[in-house]
Amino acid sequence: MRNVVIIGSGCAGNTAAIYTARANLKPLVVGGHEPGGQLSLTSLVENFPGFPEGIHGPELVENMKRQAQNFGAEYIHGSVIEADLSRRPFRLNIDGEWIETLTVIIASGASARWLGLESEQKLIGHGVSSCATCDGFFYRGKKVMVVGGGDSAMEEALFLTRFATEVAIVHRRDQFRASKIMLERAQAHPKIIFITNTVVDEVYDVNKGYVTGVKLRNLATGEECIREVDGFFVAIGHIPNTKPFVGQVDLDADGYIVSYGGARTSVPGVFHAGDVQDRVYRQAITAAGAGCMAALEVERFLEAEGR
Ligand code: NAP
Repeated sequence: MRNVVIIGSGCAGNTAAIYTARANLKPLVVGGHEPGGQLSLTSLVENFPGFPEGIHGPELVENMKRQAQNFGAEYIHGSVIEADLSRRPFRLNIDGEWIETLTVIIASGASARWLGLESEQKLIGHGVSSCATCDGFFYRGKKVMVVGGGDSAMEEALFLTRFATEVAIVHRRDQFRASKIMLERAQAHPKIIFITNTVVDEVYDVNKGYVTGVKLRNLATGEECIREVDGFFVAIGHIPNTKPFVGQVDLDADGYIVSYGGARTSVPGVFHAGDVQDRVYRQAITAAGAGCMAALEVERFLEAEGR
């Protein structure tokens, strides 16, 4: 029987692990299918306080993990595939094995959203990617495309300019969600071109098994064209990782956990932290703060039960 199981090993989960470990609760952290969370997919993090020169995302998240382990947090590989939160002790199925716990912190984050085209899905890992930091290196001297109009798209595009000769940003509108500073940086970059009011209808070439180009359609004129690219990066937001918790805790229409104040979910003893609940701020530092809040709530919850 565990005191607390933390689901997810990103900023939120690791911070919750540091706090609960220091409170001597011997937390178990379930790494999840994207260990380290979004930070492990990013390059230089310049806005996490305490690092005036910036720090690489994977290094930051690894440091957090080591910090938690130093206080006795236990990490396991694997994912929660099913949960029974209807009664206590709560039960979690980790890749086929059930474990029991008095409290749970859900910090399972949110994963990349895809366009949903059949050709896109077939070519994932063969020129289609959701992570420039992971795959940008393969496009040295090549042409790539990034879909999206938010900060992620700008960030991915800017990162890709290190390798690619040309980065085309395709966005379905001509207004951008991206912050002014990121948008202006991208607009000023000589390697980046913008294709607006445009959607992607198909990624070629499934028959060849790698990306050769895309079919674009201008939403204003209906005009279609084919554009040759070697890499296709999708940066259109994220989907919360809450599948195992459907019907267990309250989720909103998009699948994000509904907060009942602080880090509380609809189930007493089950707490949320990070992007799995936060669709607004989604920053490393806010996720870390949320992990801290969830940990403190776990401590108080168990204390109130006299444990
Ligand atoms: P986002 O802000 O939600 O932007 C998603 C973009 O994808 C939007 O432009 C949206 O278009 C487009 N999109 C969504 N579904 C689409 C579809 N099916 N087909 C075509 N386009 C589609 O997501 P994000 O860029 O991942 O950013 C998420 C949060 O993280 C934001 O708060 C952002 O500021 C933050 N972030 C910050 C940084 C940084 O500061 N360094 C870096 C990355 C992310 P519409 O605009 O038309 O809806």
